[in-house]
Amino acid sequence: MGELAGRRALVTGGASGIGAACARELAARGAEVTVADIDGEGAEKVAAEFGGRTWQVDLSEANALEDLRLETDILVNNAGVQTVSPITDFPPERFRMMLRLMVEAPFLLTRAALPHMYAQGYGRIINLSSVHGLRASAFKSAYVTAKHALEGLSKVTALEGGPHGVTSNCVNPGYVRTPLVDKQIADQAAAHGIPEQEVVERVMLTENAIKRLVEPDEVASLVGWLASDAARMVTGASYTMDGGWSAR
Ligand code: NAD
Repeated sequence: MGELAGRRALVTGGASGIGAACARELAARGAEVTVADIDGEGAEKVAAEFGGRTWQVDLSEANALEDLRLETDILVNNAGVQTVSPITDFPPERFRMMLRLMVEAPFLLTRAALPHMYAQGYGRIINLSSVHGLRASAFKSAYVTAKHALEGLSKVTALEGGPHGVTSNCVNPGYVRTPLVDKQIADQAAAHGIPEQEVVERVMLTENAIKRLVEPDEVASLVGWLASDAARMVTGASYTMDGGWSAR
Protein backbone atom coordinates (compact mmCIF):
# COMPACT_ATOMS: atom_id res chain seq x y z
CA MET A 1 0.00 0.00 0.00
CA GLY A 2 1.52 3.31 -1.08
CA GLU A 3 0.27 6.86 -0.69
CA LEU A 4 -1.47 6.63 -4.11
CA ALA A 5 -3.30 3.38 -3.29
CA GLY A 6 -6.80 3.47 -4.79
CA ARG A 7 -5.80 6.13 -7.32
CA ARG A 8 -5.92 5.40 -11.04
CA ALA A 9 -3.23 6.86 -13.25
CA LEU A 10 -2.88 7.10 -17.04
CA VAL A 11 0.57 7.72 -18.50
CA THR A 12 0.79 8.46 -22.23
CA GLY A 13 3.95 7.43 -24.05
CA GLY A 14 4.52 5.04 -21.15
CA ALA A 15 6.25 2.36 -23.23
CA SER A 16 9.61 4.14 -23.27
CA GLY A 17 11.93 6.65 -21.63
CA ILE A 18 10.44 9.19 -19.23
CA GLY A 19 6.89 7.80 -19.55
CA ALA A 20 7.99 4.30 -18.60
CA ALA A 21 9.88 5.71 -15.59
CA CYS A 22 6.76 7.71 -14.58
CA ALA A 23 4.55 4.62 -14.89
CA ARG A 24 6.95 2.66 -12.62
CA GLU A 25 7.16 5.52 -10.12
CA LEU A 26 3.37 5.95 -9.83
CA ALA A 27 2.90 2.17 -9.54
CA ALA A 28 5.57 2.05 -6.81
CA ARG A 29 3.59 4.74 -4.97
CA GLY A 30 0.53 2.46 -5.09
CA ALA A 31 -1.47 3.76 -8.07
CA GLU A 32 -3.19 1.47 -10.60
CA VAL A 33 -1.40 2.53 -13.75
CA THR A 34 -2.52 2.31 -17.38
CA VAL A 35 0.28 2.61 -19.93
CA ALA A 36 -0.99 4.26 -23.13
CA ASP A 37 1.20 4.15 -26.20
CA ILE A 38 1.19 3.65 -29.96
CA ASP A 39 3.72 0.87 -29.25
CA GLY A 40 1.40 -1.78 -27.82
CA GLU A 41 4.12 -4.35 -27.29
CA GLY A 42 6.35 -1.89 -25.45
CA ALA A 43 3.41 -0.82 -23.29
CA GLU A 44 2.64 -4.47 -22.40
CA LYS A 45 6.26 -4.98 -21.38
CA VAL A 46 6.30 -1.99 -19.02
CA ALA A 47 2.83 -2.69 -17.57
CA ALA A 48 3.79 -6.33 -16.90
CA GLU A 49 6.45 -5.12 -14.45
CA PHE A 50 3.78 -3.92 -12.02
CA GLY A 51 0.58 -5.60 -13.16
CA GLY A 52 -0.75 -2.50 -14.91
CA ARG A 53 -3.14 -2.08 -17.85
CA THR A 54 -2.36 -0.96 -21.37
CA TRP A 55 -4.09 1.11 -24.00
CA GLN A 56 -2.70 0.95 -27.51
CA VAL A 57 -3.55 4.25 -29.16
CA ASP A 58 -2.21 6.65 -31.76
CA LEU A 59 -2.55 9.96 -29.92
CA SER A 60 -1.90 11.95 -33.08
CA GLU A 61 -5.30 10.74 -34.37
CA ALA A 62 -7.40 13.33 -32.57
CA ASN A 63 -10.71 11.94 -33.91
CA ALA A 64 -10.21 8.82 -31.79
CA LEU A 65 -10.20 10.94 -28.62
CA GLU A 66 -13.09 13.32 -29.14
CA ASP A 67 -15.89 11.41 -27.44
CA LEU A 68 -13.69 9.88 -24.78
CA ARG A 69 -14.50 9.80 -21.06
CA LEU A 70 -11.64 8.83 -18.77
CA GLU A 71 -12.04 7.63 -15.19
CA THR A 72 -8.53 8.47 -14.12
CA ASP A 73 -7.40 10.40 -11.05
CA ILE A 74 -3.90 11.15 -12.33
CA LEU A 75 -3.15 12.02 -15.96
CA VAL A 76 0.43 12.27 -17.20
CA ASN A 77 0.53 13.80 -20.70
CA ASN A 78 3.94 12.59 -21.78
CA ALA A 79 3.86 11.15 -25.33
CA GLY A 80 5.98 13.22 -27.67
CA VAL A 81 8.33 13.19 -30.64
CA GLN A 82 11.12 15.46 -31.80
CA THR A 83 12.19 16.70 -35.24
CA VAL A 84 15.24 18.87 -35.84
CA SER A 85 14.99 20.85 -39.08
CA PRO A 86 15.04 24.48 -40.23
CA ILE A 87 11.60 26.03 -40.76
CA THR A 88 12.31 26.33 -44.48
CA ASP A 89 12.58 22.54 -44.78
CA PHE A 90 10.03 21.54 -42.14
CA PRO A 91 7.30 19.38 -43.72
CA PRO A 92 3.93 21.01 -42.88
CA GLU A 93 2.22 17.67 -42.22
CA ARG A 94 4.94 16.75 -39.70
CA PHE A 95 4.37 20.14 -37.99
CA ARG A 96 0.61 19.48 -37.80
CA MET A 97 1.12 15.90 -36.55
CA MET A 98 3.44 17.09 -33.76
CA LEU A 99 0.90 19.69 -32.63
CA ARG A 100 -1.87 17.08 -32.68
CA LEU A 101 0.24 14.70 -30.56
CA MET A 102 1.73 17.20 -28.13
CA VAL A 103 -1.04 19.82 -27.81
CA GLU A 104 -4.36 18.53 -29.12
CA ALA A 105 -4.10 15.10 -27.47
CA PRO A 106 -3.24 16.56 -24.03
CA PHE A 107 -6.23 18.92 -24.45
CA LEU A 108 -8.59 16.09 -25.43
CA LEU A 109 -7.35 13.79 -22.64
CA THR A 110 -7.64 16.59 -20.09
CA ARG A 111 -11.15 17.30 -21.37
CA ALA A 112 -11.98 13.60 -21.09
CA ALA A 113 -10.60 13.26 -17.55
CA LEU A 114 -11.87 16.45 -15.88
CA PRO A 115 -15.56 15.42 -15.37
CA HIS A 116 -14.46 12.37 -13.31
CA MET A 117 -11.87 14.44 -11.43
CA TYR A 118 -14.44 17.16 -10.69
CA ALA A 119 -16.91 14.56 -9.44
CA GLN A 120 -14.20 13.16 -7.10
CA GLY A 121 -12.98 16.58 -5.99
CA TYR A 122 -9.48 15.33 -6.76
CA GLY A 123 -7.24 15.21 -9.79
CA ARG A 124 -3.63 15.57 -10.80
CA ILE A 125 -2.64 16.54 -14.34
CA ILE A 126 1.07 16.50 -15.07
CA ASN A 127 2.25 17.69 -18.46
CA LEU A 128 5.66 16.69 -19.79
CA SER A 129 6.80 19.96 -21.25
CA SER A 130 10.51 20.73 -21.68
CA VAL A 131 13.01 23.53 -21.22
CA HIS A 132 11.75 24.25 -24.74
CA GLY A 133 8.35 25.10 -23.23
CA LEU A 134 10.07 28.13 -21.70
CA ARG A 135 12.97 28.87 -24.05
CA ALA A 136 13.51 28.36 -27.75
CA SER A 137 16.21 26.64 -29.77
CA ALA A 138 16.69 27.03 -33.51
CA PHE A 139 15.58 24.16 -35.78
CA LYS A 140 12.93 22.86 -33.36
CA SER A 141 9.94 24.89 -34.59
CA ALA A 142 7.17 22.33 -34.02
CA TYR A 143 8.63 21.09 -30.75
CA VAL A 144 9.15 24.55 -29.22
CA THR A 145 5.72 25.71 -30.46
CA ALA A 146 3.98 22.62 -29.08
CA LYS A 147 5.69 22.82 -25.69
CA HIS A 148 4.94 26.55 -25.33
CA ALA A 149 1.28 25.78 -26.13
CA LEU A 150 1.26 22.97 -23.55
CA GLU A 151 2.46 25.46 -20.91
CA GLY A 152 -0.59 27.60 -21.70
CA LEU A 153 -2.99 24.66 -21.59
CA SER A 154 -1.52 23.52 -18.28
CA LYS A 155 -2.05 26.95 -16.68
CA VAL A 156 -5.63 27.28 -17.96
CA THR A 157 -6.37 23.78 -16.62
CA ALA A 158 -4.94 24.87 -13.25
CA LEU A 159 -7.25 27.89 -13.15
CA GLU A 160 -10.38 25.94 -14.12
CA GLY A 161 -9.53 22.84 -12.07
CA GLY A 162 -8.41 24.51 -8.85
CA PRO A 163 -11.89 25.07 -7.38
CA HIS A 164 -12.63 21.36 -8.03
CA GLY A 165 -9.52 19.97 -6.32
CA VAL A 166 -7.62 19.42 -9.57
CA THR A 167 -4.02 20.56 -9.93
CA SER A 168 -2.19 20.93 -13.24
CA ASN A 169 1.55 21.42 -13.61
CA CYS A 170 4.35 21.14 -16.13
CA VAL A 171 7.64 19.36 -15.77
CA ASN A 172 10.44 20.87 -17.86
CA PRO A 173 13.44 18.60 -18.32
CA GLY A 174 16.63 19.42 -20.17
CA TYR A 175 18.30 16.59 -22.08
CA VAL A 176 17.24 13.25 -20.58
CA ARG A 177 18.96 10.00 -21.55
CA THR A 178 16.08 8.29 -23.46
CA PRO A 179 15.64 6.75 -26.94
CA LEU A 180 14.40 10.18 -28.15
CA VAL A 181 17.69 11.84 -27.19
CA ASP A 182 19.83 8.84 -28.22
CA LYS A 183 18.46 9.31 -31.75
CA GLN A 184 19.24 13.03 -31.66
CA ILE A 185 22.81 12.28 -30.51
CA ALA A 186 23.28 9.71 -33.30
CA ASP A 187 21.83 12.08 -35.95
CA GLN A 188 24.05 14.98 -34.89
CA ALA A 189 27.15 12.78 -34.68
CA ALA A 190 26.47 11.61 -38.25
CA ALA A 191 25.73 15.16 -39.48
CA HIS A 192 28.93 16.63 -38.01
CA GLY A 193 31.10 13.54 -38.46
CA ILE A 194 32.09 13.49 -34.78
CA PRO A 195 31.82 10.77 -32.09
CA GLU A 196 28.55 10.60 -30.14
CA GLN A 197 30.27 11.39 -26.83
CA GLU A 198 31.51 14.64 -28.35
CA VAL A 199 27.93 15.61 -29.26
CA VAL A 200 26.90 15.05 -25.65
CA GLU A 201 29.82 17.07 -24.27
CA ARG A 202 30.09 19.84 -26.89
CA VAL A 203 26.44 20.35 -27.81
CA MET A 204 24.31 19.15 -24.91
CA LEU A 205 26.34 19.81 -21.77
CA THR A 206 28.34 22.99 -22.43
CA GLU A 207 25.73 25.19 -20.71
CA ASN A 208 24.96 22.75 -17.88
CA ALA A 209 26.23 23.23 -14.34
CA ILE A 210 25.94 19.48 -13.68
CA LYS A 211 27.93 17.79 -16.44
CA ARG A 212 25.71 14.82 -17.28
CA LEU A 213 22.34 14.14 -18.88
CA VAL A 214 19.23 13.85 -16.68
CA GLU A 215 18.08 10.27 -16.00
CA PRO A 216 14.43 9.29 -16.65
CA ASP A 217 13.88 8.18 -13.03
CA GLU A 218 14.97 11.63 -11.83
CA VAL A 219 12.16 13.20 -13.88
CA ALA A 220 9.77 10.50 -12.65
CA SER A 221 10.53 11.32 -9.01
CA LEU A 222 9.38 14.91 -9.64
CA VAL A 223 6.24 13.61 -11.36
CA GLY A 224 5.61 11.28 -8.39
CA TRP A 225 5.93 14.21 -6.00
CA LEU A 226 3.51 16.33 -8.07
CA ALA A 227 1.01 13.47 -7.86
CA SER A 228 1.42 13.19 -4.09
CA ASP A 229 -0.49 14.87 -1.32
CA ALA A 230 2.62 16.88 -0.41
CA ALA A 231 2.12 18.88 -3.64
CA ARG A 232 -1.58 19.63 -3.04
CA MET A 233 -1.08 23.43 -3.13
CA VAL A 234 1.15 23.35 -6.19
CA THR A 235 -0.70 24.24 -9.39
CA GLY A 236 -0.15 26.26 -12.55
CA ALA A 237 3.60 25.80 -12.04
CA SER A 238 6.46 24.65 -14.25
CA TYR A 239 9.36 22.73 -12.76
CA THR A 240 12.66 22.78 -14.58
CA MET A 241 15.09 19.86 -14.18
CA ASP A 242 18.01 20.58 -16.48
CA GLY A 243 21.24 20.39 -14.49
CA GLY A 244 21.40 24.19 -14.48
CA TRP A 245 21.12 24.74 -18.26
CA SER A 246 18.56 27.55 -18.02
CA ALA A 247 20.20 29.26 -15.04
CA ARG A 248 22.55 31.13 -17.38
P1 NAD B 1 10.72 8.41 -25.96
O1 NAD B 1 10.88 8.46 -27.43
O2 NAD B 1 11.65 7.56 -25.16
O3 NAD B 1 9.24 7.97 -25.59
C1 NAD B 1 8.12 8.57 -26.21
C2 NAD B 1 6.97 7.58 -26.18
O4 NAD B 1 5.86 8.19 -26.82
C3 NAD B 1 7.30 6.28 -26.94
O5 NAD B 1 6.95 5.15 -26.17
C4 NAD B 1 6.43 6.40 -28.18
O6 NAD B 1 5.99 5.14 -28.71
C5 NAD B 1 5.25 7.23 -27.67
N1 NAD B 1 4.56 7.86 -28.78
C6 NAD B 1 5.11 8.52 -29.84
N2 NAD B 1 4.16 8.87 -30.72
C7 NAD B 1 2.97 8.44 -30.21
C8 NAD B 1 1.63 8.50 -30.67
N3 NAD B 1 1.31 9.04 -31.86
N4 NAD B 1 0.66 7.97 -29.90
C9 NAD B 1 0.97 7.37 -28.73
N5 NAD B 1 2.23 7.28 -28.24
C10 NAD B 1 3.22 7.80 -28.98
O7 NAD B 1 10.75 9.93 -25.47
P2 NAD B 1 11.11 10.60 -24.07
O8 NAD B 1 12.45 11.20 -24.21
O9 NAD B 1 10.84 9.68 -22.94
O10 NAD B 1 10.09 11.82 -24.05
C11 NAD B 1 8.88 11.79 -23.34
C12 NAD B 1 8.35 13.21 -23.19
O11 NAD B 1 9.30 14.00 -22.48
C13 NAD B 1 8.10 13.91 -24.53
O12 NAD B 1 6.93 14.69 -24.44
C14 NAD B 1 9.32 14.81 -24.67
O13 NAD B 1 9.06 15.93 -25.45
C15 NAD B 1 9.57 15.17 -23.22
N6 NAD B 1 10.96 15.60 -22.99
C16 NAD B 1 12.01 14.76 -23.26
C17 NAD B 1 13.29 15.22 -23.04
C18 NAD B 1 14.50 14.36 -23.32
O14 NAD B 1 15.61 14.90 -23.31
N7 NAD B 1 14.36 13.06 -23.53
C19 NAD B 1 13.52 16.51 -22.56
C20 NAD B 1 12.43 17.32 -22.30
C21 NAD B 1 11.15 16.86 -22.51
